Amino acid sequence: MALATVNPTTAATETIIEPHTPEEVEQRIAAAAAAASTLRSTTFAQRAGWMNAAADILDDQAEGLGELITVEMGKPIAQSVAEVRKSARAMRFYAEHAEGFLAGEPLEDPSTVGASRAWTRYEPLGPVLAVMPWNYPLWQVIRFAAPALMAGNTGLLKHASNVPQAAMFLDTLFERAGFPAGAFRTLLIGSADVAAVIEDPRVTAVTLTGSEPAGRSVAGTAGRSVKKAVLELGGSDPFIVLPSADLAAAAETAVRARTSNNGQSCIAGKRFIVHTDVYDAFVADFTARMSRLVVGNPLLPETEVGPLATRAGRDELAELVDDARDRGATVLTGGFVPEGDGFFYAPTVVADIPDDARLVLEEAFGPVASVYRANDNADALRIANQTRFGLSSSVWTTDPDEEAWFTANLDAGAVFLNGMTVSHPELPFGGIKDSGYGRELAADGIREFCNLKTVWKA
Ligand code: NAP
Repeated sequence: MALATVNPTTAATETIIEPHTPEEVEQRIAAAAAAASTLRSTTFAQRAGWMNAAADILDDQAEGLGELITVEMGKPIAQSVAEVRKSARAMRFYAEHAEGFLAGEPLEDPSTVGASRAWTRYEPLGPVLAVMPWNYPLWQVIRFAAPALMAGNTGLLKHASNVPQAAMFLDTLFERAGFPAGAFRTLLIGSADVAAVIEDPRVTAVTLTGSEPAGRSVAGTAGRSVKKAVLELGGSDPFIVLPSADLAAAAETAVRARTSNNGQSCIAGKRFIVHTDVYDAFVADFTARMSRLVVGNPLLPETEVGPLATRAGRDELAELVDDARDRGATVLTGGFVPEGDGFFYAPTVVADIPDDARLVLEEAFGPVASVYRANDNADALRIANQTRFGLSSSVWTTDPDEEAWFTANLDAGAVFLNGMTVSHPELPFGGIKDSGYGRELAADGIREFCNLKTVWKA
């Protein structure tokens, strides 16, 4: 199986990269294991110096890297460059804060456990495998790699098969910045080869960002091997609009929440749940804005929505909309594949969706918004929580009681009030239910792949 860059704007195959041979995979795992012993004996200051140097490389090459991302997976160029810069920011964040996040804690009164002293310390685990998706080909990897390397772990990357150029850029990034050879390596392998890497005794843990089926498979293997796993899976986030909200701001943000990254974001607002009192006004404004979006070549600065990353992803999205329409849903705008070779899909709003439609139950990974009319707040919460996913959520209200009630009762890993969900290095990120488990980012993210060691002294 070859790994390939297929430009989603043109459907042309730009680059084919041969996967690593079993011998090359073995060498790379061995290098990661050897580097793990070196890295754990380095200081936070040394690692921070290398991490900041890696961030400098990203900042210096932001424009070129942005173009690489856009050609590989199709997001508008300004968003690609912003992804590079955000990745650099996360690296600097962990360079600065890792030592504080991993400072052990003394037990205040050690006599309660019969000790003269008792304390905890965070230690690295060793090589960690990261199985990553194509939708943020740099950011998803960096938000694992920056905390992992700062904690003294080493990283092995199995990137999505359609972004091999991003994978190969990342393969050398950390070494170029000064990290020991083998501290971070890409494995050019297919998904069928992942289980053997997880089972390898030198690999200590695994993190996967991707779809639910991939998560189940990886977690199963990790479970059988008794290895720690973090899963960041899909989402079908609710975006709830209540009568007291600033409707124009909500509609404007709803469009960005749904179509950023060409609609291929796990934390995109996907289901727009609108209180009946403001439903007609909100949906009319939202639909008008969705229909005005500029769709086209993502390398052009005026483009707001580019192609889907793959033909299969585009076709699957079209099937979801067709299924809803066949079952009686109303397509308010879009709902078609534009003419041309690329993997485009028109920005779409679907209303009156029957409960058995796939669009209600599955994640729509593209610029397709589902709108739901809620009779009251309880109905809005019911619709929001009826999905098996639980990644994030967004609630639009200026009523403090509503704010508190939805915050407490939404089944989600995050609630964003009067704003769209965005990941920040400073805030923990992750989901519940079928959206996965564990957290990335902030202090919680760096502690996931550490041995929290307890020390007791007589
Ligand atoms: P995907 O098909 O699950 O692929 C993700 C990664 O998993 C790829 O590297 C893929 O390799 C690998 N993979 C697929 N099946 C596997 C298996 N059975 N065993 C081991 N590895 C396997 O997902 P995607 O289509 O690239 O990404 C979209 C999904 O990711 C969406 O559901 C989205 O919501 C989710 N996502 C979640 C987050 C989050 O933080 N929660 C963030 C971004 C995306 P191949 O490419 O070789 O198949």
